[in-house]
Amino acid sequence: MNFILMGLPGAGKGTQAERIVAEYGLPHISTGDMFRAAMANETELGLKAKSYMDQGALVPDEVTNGIVKERLAEPDTEKGFLLDGFPRTLDQAKALDEMLADLNKKLDAVIDIHVPEEVLVERLAGRFMCRNCGATYHKLFNPPKEEGTCDRCGSHDFYQREDDKPETVKNRLAVNIKSSEPILTYYKDKGLLQSIDGDRDIDAVFEDVQKIID
Ligand SMILES: [Zn+2]
Repeated sequence: MNFILMGLPGAGKGTQAERIVAEYGLPHISTGDMFRAAMANETELGLKAKSYMDQGALVPDEVTNGIVKERLAEPDTEKGFLLDGFPRTLDQAKALDEMLADLNKKLDAVIDIHVPEEVLVERLAGRFMCRNCGATYHKLFNPPKEEGTCDRCGSHDFYQREDDKPETVKNRLAVNIKSSEPILTYYKDKGLLQSIDGDRDIDAVFEDVQKIID
């Protein structure tokens, strides 16, 4: 089973990826890990990527694609792979088709964990902190035992970091939605897209993932 896992920030993609790896033993190929490995091993492409990153520049597609292709050519992908964080653009999606064809592989499915935007905002913008002691809470997942009072120090003075504020979160999501839409459409047109309702508990979502993989 060769597949891509997609989902917006807060959709629970990381959690599902962990479950899939534990259940099926597929290699989890995430771009972050690939870059770190290529740089640590000082491969030619890894060194190239590093030179861009050191300058604070975006790594060009040809380098990113090359690193992905090298990873997909490794023997542990023979029984399948779970690709995560790639492709990020339509060009990368098309490049992926070419590299898979070169490697005599094909994609079986693109699983998109779909969560409505307003739910993602609630999940992502729920974090707040105690100004007095720095304790971290979440409106949904980890609220103080007594509303408005810090469990640790009893203070009533809370604040949200800029990154956790709803407006910031909405902007970040908008950027992600805009970039992922053409990719989802591309795979939908190819008949590969499998959308899962991610606005449920982790087990229910994972059951649907398993149905697709099995
Ligand atoms: Zn406190």
